[in-house]
Amino acid sequence: MKKKIASEEPMFTKSKIKDPISYMKAAKRKNKKKYTTFLKGLQRRKLRGLDALAIALHKKAFKAVDCLACANCCKTMSPTYKKADVKRISKHLGMSFSQYYEKYLYKDKSGDYMNTQGPCQFLRKDNKCSIYPVRPKDCSGFPHTQNRDFKLYIAGTHIQNMEYCPATMYIVENMFDLVMNKKNVNLNAAMAK
Ligand code: SF4
Ligand code: SF4
Repeated sequence: MKKKIASEEPMFTKSKIKDPISYMKAAKRKNKKKYTTFLKGLQRRKLRGLDALAIALHKKAFKAVDCLACANCCKTMSPTYKKADVKRISKHLGMSFSQYYEKYLYKDKSGDYMNTQGPCQFLRKDNKCSIYPVRPKDCSGFPHTQNRDFKLYIAGTHIQNMEYCPATMYIVENMFDLVMNKKNVNLNAAMAK
């Protein structure tokens, strides 16, 4: 699935991914173990410019992957709601907090509010979110690859999400290529591409 680039110049794989979910599944089948080991190793490594590289790859990932051709997060995962999310959304829907909770949510073992059903009740047939302006912060921030300190989110977020989110897989795949396969790569040059 992954096309190795022979050139000396750093390049990013794939400009536009037609079928994001198939792309992610193929990359997972082939490279899940390798990428998991890589991400765990990154946690222990001192790599200058890692956060800037992650942000650059995040921007490129969302040019390569069209979320409206995917919606896999909304179909297969639940947002983690904060109380403020539930208050905002229930108000938007003209419901009380407890009405919303009874209809849509449960509390998991960590005490987080989660959707009882999947795909998410707000996902429309065209893969758009019917409560987009007031959606949970966890949704608007997903997949959290743009957050400061990429390493902090590796264990709890990125390792999991590369199996659900094609954009995360794109970021991990390209980060692996840049960091491991092109050890002498100038990360600044790579980011400028
Ligand atoms: S609230 Fe909207 S963005 Fe969040 S999971 Fe549901 S459909 Fe997706
Ligand atoms: S954030 Fe990831 S999983 Fe969600 S729609 Fe976009 S590419 Fe797909």
